[in-house]
Amino acid sequence: MIGVDVASISKGYGSLRVLDQVSTSFKAGQFTSLLGPSGSGKTTLLRIIGGFVSPDDGKIRFGGEDVTDVPLWQRKVGMVFQSYALFPHMNVHDNVIFGLNRQGIRGEAARKEVARVLEMVHLTGFEQRKPKQLSGGQQQRVALARAIVTKPKVLLLDEPLSALDRRLRQDMQIELRRIQRESGLTTIFVTHDQEEALTLSDTVAILDGGRIIQEGEPLDIYERPRNRFAASFLGDAN
Ligand code: ADP
Repeated sequence: MIGVDVASISKGYGSLRVLDQVSTSFKAGQFTSLLGPSGSGKTTLLRIIGGFVSPDDGKIRFGGEDVTDVPLWQRKVGMVFQSYALFPHMNVHDNVIFGLNRQGIRGEAARKEVARVLEMVHLTGFEQRKPKQLSGGQQQRVALARAIVTKPKVLLLDEPLSALDRRLRQDMQIELRRIQRESGLTTIFVTHDQEEALTLSDTVAILDGGRIIQEGEPLDIYERPRNRFAASFLGDAN
């Protein structure tokens, strides 16, 4: 298990400053939510951590090692997006094994790993189905299996549950937390849903206008909100 450090990360597009000297630490093995309103820079920060986007300034460290200039495919991150991004023409087994094959892991060793993660996400027996033959929640579990099968160092989740209806979403929250605990992966979860962040996380970091304005344990944030966005938790509860 490794932690992730973000040190003074800035990013802009033209005259728009999306991230303004963001510094924080995501603790090893923990589930941390990046919570904030739409447009606050959450996805951009997650993509910078994953190596999909380069920062203008600042450093990213995995387990103390500077990975700022390490390309995406060498960073060993697993990522799940809001839209499932499964290959529609491939069945569940082939979708999951894809990343392993790309790393040169094939044959029996690869098949064993696929069976292991499909069991973890409770999809044993679904190997031959195509994505369109699965529910939204099942598709998202396949995406999760695909993200963790390569044994990444860090799991990055960008609003993975927001396309699901309310009941399915609650079931998936429980599933997600169980899978995270079983895998022990350092996990960063982007959401604009305060309740979701508070329910799921060990730690919550609140982003607003490209800066982290508060971070702490869910209870601490709930009891001592430091700005209007954080205070809206209390509004929701009353
Ligand atoms: P969030 O995930 O919190 O909704 P984002 O990180 O997606 O926020 O976006 C933050 C801001 O940066 C938004 O105003 C968005 O329009 C802008 N932005 C994000 N990516 C790009 C891009 N590739 N080009 C231009 N503007 C972008």
